[in-house]
Formats: sequence, structure tokens, C-alpha cells
Amino acid sequence: IGGHPKGGDEPVRPAGVRSILAVASGKGGVGKSTVSSNLAVALAKQGRRVGLLDADIHGPSQPRMMGATGRPASPDGKIIEPLHAHGVTLMSIGLMLDPDKAVVWRGPMLMGALQQMMTQVNWGELDVLIVDLPPGTGDVQLTLCQKSAPTGALVVSTPQDVALLDARKAMDMFNTLKTPVLGLIENMSTFHCPECGHEAHIFGHGGVQAESEKLGIPFLGALPIDLDTRLAGDSGTPIAAGDSPMAQAYAQLADRLVQ
Ligand code: ADP
Repeated sequence: IGGHPKGGDEPVRPAGVRSILAVASGKGGVGKSTVSSNLAVALAKQGRRVGLLDADIHGPSQPRMMGATGRPASPDGKIIEPLHAHGVTLMSIGLMLDPDKAVVWRGPMLMGALQQMMTQVNWGELDVLIVDLPPGTGDVQLTLCQKSAPTGALVVSTPQDVALLDARKAMDMFNTLKTPVLGLIENMSTFHCPECGHEAHIFGHGGVQAESEKLGIPFLGALPIDLDTRLAGDSGTPIAAGDSPMAQAYAQLADRLVQ
């Protein structure tokens, strides 16, 4: 990560933000938000100034995963003050919406909401702004890539064929939009039974690495199916905030990204 926006139209990028990292997936439920929040916390623990923008319009889960409650303040009605949790500056579309209402927005409204979160939120000085995208290849992805020129994208997938199939589409979209794919992450890779130590490959194993090799994209690592990861996300303190082996796995992932 690091670097500057590409040419073309003037990108809508907050003034103090050095780089934008998009976290994407083809399918929903593969752990894109979990990886985004843990990566944000791991980078912040390494002393980087990190922002997390939850742009998953249809399932904004970052406020819950990061344990951030309350509504962001806007004393002047224009600039929105973000929240702060676990050393990360946080803004989520979910903080502006009624959590029990479904979002039925058309493309232009989605574009407007994303631009607003980019330009009106007081992000301050950040080394990296992580954008947790909705799954798939829709208007939010298009707007982000075309208007804000992300430095790069990470694609999260499970090893399952149906997830990989959609992850390929997401990578194809980034190629078309000239956003470099910095790497692939296999999430929910293996399950180590805590009772007997048996290792099970519930969604398969190794598919994402094989795909990376085929496409010549860096493989950034495999994260296991881990009960504590799920519990930590649900409790609002990402596992990366602690010092368990999973926290170390996220620290390594952060290291690989900033190399
Ligand atoms: P997405 O953002 O791709 O929709 P989430 O990050 O919301 O996916 O994850 C979906 C569910 O799976 C959440 O309940 C989350 O806690 C859980 N989860 C994600 N990654 C893991 C993992 N490695 N091990 C166990 N549970 C996980």
C-alpha cells in the first residue's frame, strides 16, 4: 500500500489520505468484513494511521464488529465526525441508516452516499483508508474505482468453487477498472477441531492459492475457520486486537501488505 492516485478525472480522495485499499469479494458471507476490520486493527497496532470505511450498503457490519455505537456528529451539518475504535477511524453507511430498514437505493444514490463518506467525513491524516466493499461487482465498486482511484484491492474468498467463481469476476472488474489487485486471501480455509485436533476442510482447501498462481496475483495467506474470530467479531473487539495466534496471523498479513 502507499502511492498516489492515477491520472484522468480529479479523484475524489480525502486530502489527508495517503492510500486507499479496497477489500472485495465475489460472494457475501466469505469474511470480507471480518478481514477488513482485523486488518485495520492489525495495521493500527503497528503504528499506522488507519481508517475503515464500511461501504457495504446492504449489510454494513463494521459498527458491530468494531464495537462502535452512536451516531457520528455533524456540528455544522456538513462535515461528519467519524467514530474511533481500537485505534481505527471508522465510518459506516450503517451509522447513518436505520439498522432495521432494508436499503433499496438506485445507483446514483449509492454513488452519492459513497462520495459523501469520502468527502464529508473528517478522516484527518491517514496512511491507509480501508474500504469494505459490498460483495459482487456493482455501482459502489464502480464508483470507488472510477472516482477515488484506490491504490489497490484485496480479494477475499473461501476455497469453495462457487465463491472462487465470483471472486474471479471481481478480479476481472478490477482489471477492467485498472485497480491493481494486491493479493488474494483464503478465508475459512481449514477447521482444527478443538476436541480431537482433526483438521477438516469444510469449504475445500488450497483453491485460492492455486487461483493466485494461475493469475499471477500474490497469495497473501489462508485464515482458518476459527470460533474465536467469530466470537470476537460479534463482541465488537476484533481478534487482531489481542495476542492470540490469529492476531499474529493478521499481523503477518498486515506486514505482507505494507512490504
Ligand atoms: P462478508 O463481509 O464477506 O459478508 P463477514 O465478515 O460478515 O463476511 O463474515 C460472515 C460471518 O462469518 C460472520 O459471522 C463472521 O463472524 C464469520 N467469519 C468470518 N470469517 C471467519 C473465520 N475465519 N472463522 C470463523 N468465522 C468467520
